[in-house]
Amino acid sequence: MKRPAILGGPVAFPDGLPLARPATPPLAEVVTLLQPSWDRGVLTNGPLVRQLEEAAASRLGVRNVVAVSSCTAGLMLVFQALGTRGSVVLPSFTFSASAHALMWNQLAPVFAECDESTFHIDVDDAAARVDQADASAVLATHVFGAPGPVGGLDKLGQAAGVPVVFDAAHAFGATLDGQPVGHGGVAEVFSLTPTKTLVAGEGGLVATADDDLAEALRWNRDYGHRGDYNTRVAGLNARMSEMHAATALAGLPRFDDTLAIRRSHAARYTETLADIPGIHPQTVGAGDESTYKDFTVSIDPEQFGTGRDELEGALRAEGVETRRYFYPPVHRQDAYRAFTADLPVTDRVAGRVLTLPLYATMPAGGPEQVAELIAAVHAHADQLTATSTPR
Ligand SMILES: *Cc1c(COP(=O)(O)O)cnc(C)c1O
Repeated sequence: MKRPAILGGPVAFPDGLPLARPATPPLAEVVTLLQPSWDRGVLTNGPLVRQLEEAAASRLGVRNVVAVSSCTAGLMLVFQALGTRGSVVLPSFTFSASAHALMWNQLAPVFAECDESTFHIDVDDAAARVDQADASAVLATHVFGAPGPVGGLDKLGQAAGVPVVFDAAHAFGATLDGQPVGHGGVAEVFSLTPTKTLVAGEGGLVATADDDLAEALRWNRDYGHRGDYNTRVAGLNARMSEMHAATALAGLPRFDDTLAIRRSHAARYTETLADIPGIHPQTVGAGDESTYKDFTVSIDPEQFGTGRDELEGALRAEGVETRRYFYPPVHRQDAYRAFTADLPVTDRVAGRVLTLPLYATMPAGGPEQVAELIAAVHAHADQLTATSTPR
């Protein structure tokens, strides 16, 4: 067994192993796609954006896809168009942008618990908080690209008479019971930023079966006027540019290959980490397929021998980049002090998670190597705790 670099052993990745690399298409293909729009002087919200919307709608099997400048803007526009008032229940174990979209609509976030092993919003806890707060909507995240509890949340929404919206930032390409994710609630909003699965550089896609909602989003992403400069609502400039649409379109033909590689890396991780006590990868529903936008494990410090922060430090010393997704949880962030809640499960989960490197161009054998380093940390856990945390 290798001696961890943090204890003086050799550094496993002297040139570094990054957490993520964007799955970018060849630039020449982007340029070829972009050329006609460029030549016509159409640089935003043009034919390539339409083409991307149609390609995404057909891939997802949804009635409407509306392209926007980001997932955050898409979520903001959805809640504006729904006319939601008051408070909205959402998980605290998500990226801050979920909650930001509510705040920009003067909606009060009511944070709900997450599940210890799937990391998804706890549906029963969410239902209780909807009742308690008399909330007007639910917003849930497909955490790390694993499909969330769509059936349970849709039932909750129907029973409570409130719309459910999904932050699907991580989930383009995920499948739930064999069907593409994108059909949950009234709308699902995907992100196309560099660390997400399909890459535009910046961008978002709103999927919805509701034609009126889609129409409102199309107007409101363009300031809220309908071609006559008489704005009906205070819209946004949340248009997608032709350059971004071209980038995403060029990525689509190889997208399934990229996903397959991500999934095989994840499978190698799961297999090789299984022998290490106290390392628990996120649980993905049986019959579901995650995008593995992130491969995140929960570290049980008693079983593993040391904690998440010590493991993070030990991997950093090996040149391995990791991230504490999602820590701090949103209800612990300064911007949300006024909305804090008692969320013991979320606090525990957020204190234990560590996201490991995973990207399509990661060298073969990468997951095995990282798992070996983690096993070495486990084997040296006693020494490690002593040297790295002099408390
Ligand atoms: C990245 C991300 C967002 C924000 O997406 P943008 O396209 O950058 O606005 C929202 N929610 C989650 C869960 C994310 O990871």
